[in-house]
This record gives sequence, structure tokens and C-alpha cells, in this order.
Amino acid sequence: MSFICPRCKQYTLEIKKIAKAVLGPMDDEKSIQLVGCSCGFKGVAVYEESRRGAGSVFNHDGYMVPDELVDKLKEKMVGGGEVAADDFTINKITQQKFDHFSMDLAS
Ligand SMILES: [Zn+2]
Repeated sequence: MSFICPRCKQYTLEIKKIAKAVLGPMDDEKSIQLVGCSCGFKGVAVYEESRRGAGSVFNHDGYMVPDELVDKLKEKMVGGGEVAADDFTINKITQQKFDHFSMDLAS
């Protein structure tokens, strides 16, 4: 499974690691993913799936986070357990979400 990379625009972005995300009261199912590309780009993606209603509705968004945050997430994933997605998708200084990009699959 390869996705389009926001840096090199090739379908070479891959999910390297996945962890369960800590769920909020409104969340159905959520995972946090470490993504990387052969061009050197690294980022974080969040996959959310809603099981309510007919069919499945999902959101898959990537975030352009600083490399050190990606490395921090990697360390946390090695330990196992759930990860708070907000810790890795919100800039602690500005309290804004990091720039996001769509995780578009190669068809
Ligand atoms: Zn790339």
C-alpha cells in the first residue's frame, strides 16, 4: 500500500508503524501511523473509521510534523500500548494542528 508523498509527489509514501490511538468519547476507531518515503520525508498519519450508519466512513489524514516528533512517536510505539494522537498532531507551542495532507492511495 503506497500513498502520495506530499514532498516528492510520488506514490512512494508508506506506513511504517501503526499504534492504537487513545479514544475520545466521540471516537469510534482510531489509529496513529508513522509514515515515511524513500525521498526522506517522515510524518504522522491518523486513520479514523466510523461504524455508525450505513457503510463505513473514514478519514485518513497525514500531518507534517517536525522530525524530532516523528522520532519521539517511534520510541513510544516501540514500548507498545496506546498513543494520544493529539500529542503528535498538535503543535504544543501554537496549539494549532500541524499542516495536514491527504493520504491518497495509488489506484
Ligand atoms: Zn517522497
